[in-house]
Amino acid sequence: AGSRWLVEYRVEAIQLSITWFLTVSAYALNQRLGRLRRQRDEMQVLAETDALTGLPNRRAGLRRLGELFQAAREGGVPLSVAFVDIDHFKTINDDHGHDAGDRVLVAAAQALTGTVRGPGDAARMGGEEFLVLLPGVEGGAALRRMEALRTRLASRGAALGIDGLQLTASIGVATLARGDADASVLLRRADAAMYAAKRAGRDRVQAAEA
Ligand code: GH3
Ligand code: MG
Ligand code: MG
Repeated sequence: AGSRWLVEYRVEAIQLSITWFLTVSAYALNQRLGRLRRQRDEMQVLAETDALTGLPNRRAGLRRLGELFQAAREGGVPLSVAFVDIDHFKTINDDHGHDAGDRVLVAAAQALTGTVRGPGDAARMGGEEFLVLLPGVEGGAALRRMEALRTRLASRGAALGIDGLQLTASIGVATLARGDADASVLLRRADAAMYAAKRAGRDRVQAAEA
């Protein structure tokens, strides 16, 4: 009877050990999965963020534009977009140095962020080019918002205290029309309007052709 008790005791001890081992392993695995998920989320944010300005990058901007286009179509609500290109930015770099150029880009990004409704609604498309998304905003209101942005850019530029620096931009604005087959058509119209603003002398807001 004594040895039988000992055997049962041992079996129980082994079962308890296995249970303990599995519990600890499951816990460790769960911790590791959580860490991996957090790392994945952080990497996704990094992959969609412009390192200099902290704005969403081109990829994120285009994705958001696509979502807003879809929502505007389905909901029958207005959507305006603006293409913003800093004027004579190459000269700013040449005259004041690349670091000053970078500070100008950051200042421009701050002016843009102050103009849009949500944090995802202004993106750096590359270089000195930015995209502004104005969901729910009609053409006339979009033009007024971009005029306000022009003023804000000038004062942000002046606040940098860089001698002789003038921060201006050429801005093309387009509003979703029935004929726009997809978001890229809307974007192209805003881009064309921005180039028209350049040709007309820069430092101005230009509405896209309907
Ligand atoms: P325009 O008025 O016609 O737009 O002329 P622009 O000089 O602004 O345009 P251009 O395309 O000739 O020059 C853009 C310059 O932007 C050239 C490039 O070296 C500079 N650039 C692009 N990315 C960066 C950046 O991250 N930092 C700095 N400092 N300069 C940049
Ligand atoms: Mg450009
Ligand atoms: Mg430019």
